[in-house]
Amino acid sequence: MDRPTTDRRSFLASALAAGAYAALAKSPAARAAQEEPPRRLPPAKVSRDRVIRTVVGLRPYRPEGFVLTNERLGEKVVVHNYGHGGGGVSLSWGVAQMAAEQARNLEDKSLAVLGCGVIGLSTARVLQRRGKAVTVYTRELPPETTSNVAGALWYPTHVYEQGKVNATFMERYGLACRLAHREFQSYVGPEYGVRWMETYTFGSGPLGRELAGGPELYPETRFYSDAQRSFGFPFVRQFTSLMIEPQTYLRALLRDFYAAGGRVVVKELKTREEVAGLPERVVFNCTGLGARALFGDQGMASMRGQIEVLLPQPELDYGYLANSLYMFPRADGVILGGTFEAGNWSMDADEATTKRIIEGNAQIAKGLKNSRQ
Ligand SMILES: Cc1cc2nc3c(=O)[nH]c(=O)nc-3n(C[C@H](O)[C@H](O)[C@H](O)COP(=O)(O)OP(=O)(O)OC[C@H]3O[C@@H](n4cnc5c(N)ncnc54)[C@H](O)[C@@H]3O)c2cc1C
Repeated sequence: MDRPTTDRRSFLASALAAGAYAALAKSPAARAAQEEPPRRLPPAKVSRDRVIRTVVGLRPYRPEGFVLTNERLGEKVVVHNYGHGGGGVSLSWGVAQMAAEQARNLEDKSLAVLGCGVIGLSTARVLQRRGKAVTVYTRELPPETTSNVAGALWYPTHVYEQGKVNATFMERYGLACRLAHREFQSYVGPEYGVRWMETYTFGSGPLGRELAGGPELYPETRFYSDAQRSFGFPFVRQFTSLMIEPQTYLRALLRDFYAAGGRVVVKELKTREEVAGLPERVVFNCTGLGARALFGDQGMASMRGQIEVLLPQPELDYGYLANSLYMFPRADGVILGGTFEAGNWSMDADEATTKRIIEGNAQIAKGLKNSRQ
């Protein structure tokens, strides 16, 4: 019997997709994956009664990408370093080094950093390593910052909107990714809560080599065809990235900052005039979402994220991404995501979102439990 046209189209589309996938599957890494069967992944125990907290955070998102520029403010120079969206933890060391480079010709020994999230702390540490005396001015300290809410997988995603950034931005983004990825490797170990982690992308359609920041930053990338049987999803990509435990990591960075002679002043700066009144002549603005009000950046939006945290499950040694859902195992709980809501400024937990996150991740866990390797 002849198929209706629409069926033929979707048949053709999936045949083409399968062809593209087959081509990809001929890469050396994919061949290695075919030789080596996937291991059995222990499923997360996902249920409402294992939820220990629901957390909401507002990502400092700029569709036009993060800001790394110098601005004159009377006698002062302000080096802006904010607006890193859903990838601020990942990019932190890279943009910190780039911000410090922007100020390399300034002779001042004492510098100010505004903000004590991951961007402010990394920037402060890079400046200290260059022999500067740094004072951090901040409204909140860890664990009260947005940086503490992050997942945090090294995966610099949701950092800009396609079509709103130019080639120069993409070059800087690429450089920030490479610098940060290299620097984070010096922090691997329990002291900083950083480790390498096997990560999977589960897809209902074919998955390409594109990974946030560039495929070369993800060793051991593999593709599994015939994946339904093993993972409960038809298309699966495996890669290795760094997992950062924000509570441990930020605490350790703050300790390093103090140990190197850093000073913290807990203070909210409300206007440019207040910034202009600080004793330091060079000021690094790392206020994240706070830059919108403080420096009048209307291009800065919020991208709301809600996560559900389950009781820790030490046997989970991998993480996954599946569209907007994700799972990252941490010492302080199993992180289930998530939401990426641009323009939503609500800090209230949303019950419908909780339900979607729990049910969606429970479905994935069920697929893994029923899988056969
Ligand atoms: C749910 C969720 C999951 C995420 N997951 C990941 C992930 O897996 N990987 C990843 O790389 N990133 C992730 N992110 C993104 C990441 O958390 C942010 O990009 C990053 O934390 C931004 O860091 P920041 O230092 O700029 O901002 P913040 O952490 O918000 O720090 C800003 C600092 O500035 C201070 N401040 C603000 N305004 C003023 C003012 N007027 N005066 C004085 N001080 C001020 C604040 O008190 C704070 O100390 C996630 C975010 C969320 C919400």
